[in-house]
Amino acid sequence: MQPNGITFIISAPSGTGKTTVCKILKNKLPKLKFSVSHTTREPRDNEIDGIDYYFISENIFEEKIKHDKFIEWAKVYQYYYGTAFESIDSHKKNGDDVLIELDVQGAKSLRKLNYEAIFIFILPPSLKELEIRLRSRNTESESAIKDRLESSKNEVQQCKLYDYILTNIDVEETAENIISVIKAEHLRKELYKPTSLDLKNLIDQMENH
Ligand code: 5GP
Repeated sequence: MQPNGITFIISAPSGTGKTTVCKILKNKLPKLKFSVSHTTREPRDNEIDGIDYYFISENIFEEKIKHDKFIEWAKVYQYYYGTAFESIDSHKKNGDDVLIELDVQGAKSLRKLNYEAIFIFILPPSLKELEIRLRSRNTESESAIKDRLESSKNEVQQCKLYDYILTNIDVEETAENIISVIKAEHLRKELYKPTSLDLKNLIDQMENH
């Protein structure tokens, strides 16, 4: 029988360090599959099409919306971002754990659909620290930084939508904490599979009482 894969959703205000944390997770958990989102924003210098995102035009994105290709999509900072069914279905069919990075709007859409997943939110240590990190990243214009800081406040206020809230003080530690969450979720009783017939029989007897 195929093991049960779990879907993990990760959100964080822009600049919190989510991408770095996810890179560490990729190295430490080679079996964890990452969903590659579609976006209409331009690739950053170090980003690769098909690995970081599928970079597509607005027209193509809107066509995909029309044809229900996305399990969720949102407009974030004037660009479209979306998770295609195609990007997660094959992993789920194989019984793999899947990690989806999305913003709060996307997480809300999935909650509305009662989407079965574990929702993890990463917070920066403070808004001041977030601003420092965003500026030192040197990837956004001044107005984009201001936009991102403004939406961060709104996002932070919605962190209670999530099952787990972590503060990213140190990226390695945050990655380890996420690994702990992943391990703990696999130990839930719903996923327990008896490892011997005597245990199975005993548990079945209990359940029939
Ligand atoms: P960035 O442009 O910095 O890569 O991402 C901007 C925001 O879009 C981040 O909050 C990121 O989590 C979010 N995002 C990335 N992919 C998706 C997606 O597929 N759906 C939604 N709703 N948000 C996404």
